[in-house]
Amino acid sequence: MSEPLPMRFVLSAPDLAGLPPSRAEVAVIGRSNVGKSSLLNALARRRDLAKTSGKPGKTRLLNLFETDGGTLVDLPGFGYAKVAATERRAWQQRMEHYLLEREPLVLTLLLVDGEVGPTALDRDMLGWLRHAEVPFQVVATKHDKVKASRRDRRKRDLASGCGLDQREVVWVSADKGVGIDRLRGLVRDALAG
Ligand code: GDP
Repeated sequence: MSEPLPMRFVLSAPDLAGLPPSRAEVAVIGRSNVGKSSLLNALARRRDLAKTSGKPGKTRLLNLFETDGGTLVDLPGFGYAKVAATERRAWQQRMEHYLLEREPLVLTLLLVDGEVGPTALDRDMLGWLRHAEVPFQVVATKHDKVKASRRDRRKRDLASGCGLDQREVVWVSADKGVGIDRLRGLVRDALAG
């Protein structure tokens, strides 16, 4: 098992303008409830670093965590249905602005729910990332929620739904620790440049 990623909370900022300088950044994005907070906690092997929320989509801030060789940036879930459309659009714009303009950004992890993804929103986001030429890695979450008998099929469907080869998708389970080492390696390598 690899060493946990050390993660120290630095600050939360409403937008790009509020961010301090950094050497290299890996951003983490995904729909609300995709398992983002759980995954960040698993990477750090902590319980409480990123709040797993009962209220998805509530915090609309960029949350920065300092780690080995750079910074992890947690971007709140996109597309949460229960917030007003204007607020949703405003957040989407701030997120896109960050992804387009943030110079130290080296990689964006796009989390997709392994049980149900990719959804139409995920596919929109993928299309946008490709179009904007933002380097990304698809991470399929909640591996343990997919029955063993359905896994091969699910892996094929998820990858093809994302327009990717199966080998290009990292599957993880925050609960069972599946894929966490591999993802830590990817983050470390990306930050080390
Ligand atoms: P976020 O809104 O993307 O930060 O999602 P959370 O991390 O708060 O997780 C949303 C829900 O999915 C919670 O009920 C978690 O317990 C659950 N969840 C997250 N990751 C996993 C996982 O790997 N396996 C299982 N079984 N449930 C998970």
